[in-house]
Amino acid sequence: MPNPSSPRQNGHQQEPSVRKNNFEEVAHTFTHEEALLEADRCLNCPTHPCQNACPVGVHIPAFIAKVKTGDIGAAASEIMQTSLLPAICGRVCPQEKHCEGHCVLKAKFGSVNIGGLERYVADTARAQGALKPPTPCENTGKKVVCIGSGPSSLACAAELRRAGHDVTVLEALHAYGGVLRYGIPSFRLPREVINKEVETVQEMGVKFKTDVLVGATITLTELLKEYDAVYIGSGAGLPMMLGIEGENAVGVYSANEFLTRVNLMQAYKFPETDTPIRVGKNVIVLGGGNSAMDAARCAMRLSPETVTIAYRRSAEEMPARAAEVEHAQEEGVQFEYLVTPKEVVKDEYGHVTGVRFTRNELGAPDEKGRRRPVEIAGSDFVMPADTVIVAIGQRPNPTITKTTPDLKTTERGVIALNEKGETSLKGVFAGGDIIRGGATVLLAMNDGIAAAGKINEYLGGK
Ligand code: FAD
Ligand code: SF4
Repeated sequence: MPNPSSPRQNGHQQEPSVRKNNFEEVAHTFTHEEALLEADRCLNCPTHPCQNACPVGVHIPAFIAKVKTGDIGAAASEIMQTSLLPAICGRVCPQEKHCEGHCVLKAKFGSVNIGGLERYVADTARAQGALKPPTPCENTGKKVVCIGSGPSSLACAAELRRAGHDVTVLEALHAYGGVLRYGIPSFRLPREVINKEVETVQEMGVKFKTDVLVGATITLTELLKEYDAVYIGSGAGLPMMLGIEGENAVGVYSANEFLTRVNLMQAYKFPETDTPIRVGKNVIVLGGGNSAMDAARCAMRLSPETVTIAYRRSAEEMPARAAEVEHAQEEGVQFEYLVTPKEVVKDEYGHVTGVRFTRNELGAPDEKGRRRPVEIAGSDFVMPADTVIVAIGQRPNPTITKTTPDLKTTERGVIALNEKGETSLKGVFAGGDIIRGGATVLLAMNDGIAAAGKINEYLGGK
């Protein structure tokens, strides 16, 4: 019998005072006992609202039922029918907005910890050698290339390979994973987990090449001569800046540069690694999304005296995952809400000395339903800082679109799709952040899976 009223298992974590000094993973995977206790809370609802709210439709009640029987390999196979990156999704998906947000137990007892269980299944099945990639169908003789190796391309490549196509992934950087590797820090997503998930896709027979910047090393037009179809999953890697006075001062980073240095180039190990990073005593991070939380928590681990996240609206409107906000607070990151940065203040040598803000109050809701910040006249103040990290969002890099004039984009610079989900070029498909301008891992994966279906159809596959 299920036991929904037993306390939700949240697993164990490194203590904040310890973890703020290292880059090791914060949360631990459930023990077998914790996983069983948590699985026992699930009611196996026949209408599965949790599964309906998952962008890729992971068979949630079915995999949890298999955890209860102790057959973790079978639970993993159940998840892998719709998601080939379970160890990643279990760790970084915003479950509170998707599956857990719709769990029937949420109001009375607290949602089932679906993310924790997914992660437990993936890690345990992998350790047991039971995380088996699906066997691809017979070779079709068709060749497809996926541009980028983020979650969107990885999901698309795996699905296309499953259908029997010859698939190659081209990545501009020297390592695979996209934002998973260069944006999300190892204390949230260990590099080993990314490596293993990519290996699963490689085991299916997908080929990977690094250091290929499509649009520079080779053009899209040239790729179309070599391949029967192209999937563009090149993400949104171009940082947005505020355009305020002083933003070019010494000590101002975009979150993109800061996180790439720390996570991809492992600057926190300098001089053991080649890339340095300088963080001063007082750090201000501008923004309220996942990038802002990651930048603030990375900065905290580089031993400043204070790290402050400055956000235009209130805590309620902040788009970052709830767990990341909580972890940042536990680690000592401070939050200054309802402030708009107006100027980066610098000294006579051009070094940052602070940020001038105006205080806001909340006004009417915007088109997304979030209340708009309205500036309060005469409320300016300067917060001292010697490092400023701008984490206000990203846009698609135009390398591919600029060198492919017939590929239509929208005003926001994202690749435009027609009502059938096709780009303006025959045989060219796209998904993930390059069409959304910034979303989540699961939405990017879902786009990749949906595009794989369209590509398969285009190639005459079943
Ligand atoms: P990306 O992950 O950006 O991958 C694109 C890849 O394409 C990159 O590797 C890039 O180098 C490569 N590329 C680009 N141009 C070219 C080219 N011309 N030729 C070849 N390769 C190219 N979402 C969550 O769900 N949970 C989180 O906790 C979370 N945290 C985040 C933290 C940060 C710091 C950021 C920036 C985003 C976060 N997100 C999170 C959002 C999520 O990571 C993205 O929505 C997702 O990674 C998008 O996937 P993608 O495959 O479309 O693109
Ligand atoms: Fe289990 Fe909650 Fe999903 Fe119901 S909604 S099947 S209780 S996880």
